[in-house]
Amino acid sequence: MSESNITGCILGTAMGDAIGLPYEGLSRRRAAKLLGPPTHHRLFFGRGMVSDDTEHTCFTAQALIASGGDVELFRKDLAWRLRWWLLGLPAGIGLATLKSIVRLWLGFNPRNSGVFSAGNGPAMRAAILGAAISDRPQLRSFVRASSRLTHTDPKAEYGAFAVALAAQFAQQQSSNSSTAYLAELEACLGHEAQELIELLHQAAASAQAGETSLTFAQSIGQAKGVSGYIYRSVPVALHACFRYPNDYAAAIKAIVECGGDTDSVAAIAGGIIGCRVGKAGIPEIWLDNLIEWPRSIPWMEQLAEQLQVTTETGKSSSHRGRDRTFQSHIWALPFRNIFFLFIVLFHGFRRLLPPY
Ligand SMILES: [Mg+2]
Repeated sequence: MSESNITGCILGTAMGDAIGLPYEGLSRRRAAKLLGPPTHHRLFFGRGMVSDDTEHTCFTAQALIASGGDVELFRKDLAWRLRWWLLGLPAGIGLATLKSIVRLWLGFNPRNSGVFSAGNGPAMRAAILGAAISDRPQLRSFVRASSRLTHTDPKAEYGAFAVALAAQFAQQQSSNSSTAYLAELEACLGHEAQELIELLHQAAASAQAGETSLTFAQSIGQAKGVSGYIYRSVPVALHACFRYPNDYAAAIKAIVECGGDTDSVAAIAGGIIGCRVGKAGIPEIWLDNLIEWPRSIPWMEQLAEQLQVTTETGKSSSHRGRDRTFQSHIWALPFRNIFFLFIVLFHGFRRLLPPY
């Protein structure tokens, strides 16, 4: 792995999230009338912002840095970041994630804080694990720790692992075949994840036949938009990755066209393809028009650099300077979140008005 892989993973997640966000929950027909195609940011006068998918990916990166490869430290650190995140009143949060963080605040151990759900929460923070961890058993245990913090249905962990492994494979420039990836996934997860593996085989065959992600989504019952169920979100995200392994913008566009949970599905695929194409493969205008602070693009790039150092040295010490830089701006987060909440509410009201 190289620095550009990790940078590409974080920025790829962020841009998929930001481009997909205004379309979340809209039907395809309505999205076309109200917003038009996802060629640029459409959240706020041509600018974009990120949601929980990117925030959780950054927390996971920070927890990886703090852990220095120790899964117990990782679990505890990520749990604290989620606890504080909830106090910032995030505008978008999954129900299982909300319940689990409340349980963490009530004193539940991060091992038992999760609730039985197969929502896509664990998948949206999984690509970064695959980008940063090359050892397979270690990857498996980190994905499990991250997933179970909020979701205990084993399906959630399998879906998250499929994403993490795809990110790992995406870094190998030579490997462009879904066959090797699916064989490895099957070897790692075994029979219990058979349903997911079959869905992913279907996705690979559909991509190979040149079908659009929309056609595939329709074939698995997602004609009205891709749901937040991890066995629907992840196969559609991976379809776009199989179909456009080197074309970041085309993959994001293909996903947004499916409707439904557009920001999370695009964030998942964006994190995977970002590992392969790096920052250079992401449209510059998308990066330039993100309005985020304190978690700006340069901040995310510094985070990626720091994570790269940790993966190379196995040491967590150097992250402290980085964390301090972030904490000096922590007062800005409530203001940022209030601004973001107003934009989300504006979109909510805008949708009540024509064109229908
Ligand atoms: Mg989101």
